[in-house]
Amino acid sequence: MADRHVAYALIGGGQACGNCARWLREQGADGEILLIGREPDPPYYRPDCSKDYLRGEKPRSETMFRAPEWYAEQQVELLTKVSVIDVDVSERLLSLSNRQKVSFDKALIATGANVRRLNVPGCELEGIFYLRTLGNSEAIREGAAGKRVVLIGGSFIGCEVAASLTELGSECAIVMLERVALSGVFGESAGHFFQDRLEDHGIKVYGEDALERFEGSEGRVTTVITQDGLELEADAVIVGAGVVPDVMLAKRAGLELGERGGVLADSRLATSVPGIYVGGDMAEYESVIHGRNLRVEHWDVAFNHGKTAALNMLGADQPHEVVPYFFSDLSDWASLEYVGPAARWDREIVRGSLDDGQFSIFYLDGGRVAAVLAVGRSEDIEHGRRLISEGVELGETAERLGELSADLAEL
Ligand SMILES: Cc1cc2nc3c(=O)[nH]c(=O)nc-3n(C[C@H](O)[C@H](O)[C@H](O)COP(=O)(O)OP(=O)(O)OC[C@H]3O[C@@H](n4cnc5c(N)ncnc54)[C@H](O)[C@@H]3O)c2cc1C
Repeated sequence: MADRHVAYALIGGGQACGNCARWLREQGADGEILLIGREPDPPYYRPDCSKDYLRGEKPRSETMFRAPEWYAEQQVELLTKVSVIDVDVSERLLSLSNRQKVSFDKALIATGANVRRLNVPGCELEGIFYLRTLGNSEAIREGAAGKRVVLIGGSFIGCEVAASLTELGSECAIVMLERVALSGVFGESAGHFFQDRLEDHGIKVYGEDALERFEGSEGRVTTVITQDGLELEADAVIVGAGVVPDVMLAKRAGLELGERGGVLADSRLATSVPGIYVGGDMAEYESVIHGRNLRVEHWDVAFNHGKTAALNMLGADQPHEVVPYFFSDLSDWASLEYVGPAARWDREIVRGSLDDGQFSIFYLDGGRVAAVLAVGRSEDIEHGRRLISEGVELGETAERLGELSADLAEL
């Protein structure tokens, strides 16, 4: 038996839900919108947690998706510090941690992702941090700024946090499985470019090595030991070992999971249960552009999923046709943008110069552009988006991607 009824239940309280609420109202939805999230904050801009907010350059209020008064103005009811414990899809009924039962007409489930935790000897010691929330970011600033820090993982979190903490006076070292930082997504030539920026600023990078254990004294971490036998002294450790989609609630509700570990949705982000949509980091959706299922953990993707889900809740019957976009900053040493994602590629064509730090790399798979990375050449991202979404077969003309005099609009 429900305590109350809402037209739209937005479950998770991250970017996907925030933007869904916005688009529901912008498109004239007039029913009740209830946004439920278990964090203490309303939807906020999570990428700041490893960048300006971590460095103390941006106040907390500026990380918010919308100012507090927006929710009242738009009649979006916000429940923070409340978890959805159960979704009964046949009764269309939510059970909340505040003991309320709420029935709904339509729902978006966007519960995001959780950090992948490492289970090695010493992992329970004080001074070992993970990063997902504003609160984690504050704890890292307090516990690691100006200290000796070891970062585990050479992908975005490890590299971004190492750059931010270096700016705060920390002495940073990265231990990672890959040979070159950030090469997992961008390949080794781009990876070398980014790793050079890190090393130029004094960050030590240890590739092709794995964490074996932590050692400590009086309950606090003091040393990181690697499988190759490195012993790195550390006052703090930040683990950036990827994320796992948070599908617990959706799985319990009986929604189907996909091969990539996300909750399955069609190209409209609709699940197998009519009126229930998924979005953001935990959604595995059928991409009409890529011709395969995608699950990507990018802020822009979650943001745009929120919009597509809102439009479809209102009956638009619209496929999600946005090419996933990603950006990352290593402090102000290097900024990158990327459209893709490329599942594989057989050729990289560089436009511009890696030595000058102004370049794009076009990743080709069988003559088609699968992804584009741009550093200091944002204009190439737009062309990349078009070439990816139109699936243009470039043939001989692919060479022209690398000629600065060639007009990409003509390809
Ligand atoms: C430090 C950091 C830096 C990043 N930097 C970048 C970047 O530079 N560029 C980029 O593109 N992306 C970046 N990302 C990724 C980006 O932030 C995510 O892809 C995006 O926030 C995902 O949004 P979402 O709405 O899917 O989920 P989230 O933002 O994770 O929100 C989901 C929310 O649901 C809540 N929740 C889960 N289960 C329940 C439940 N049962 N009941 C209630 N609430 C629940 C969670 O607590 C969470 O608050 C970064 C992420 C992090 C952590």
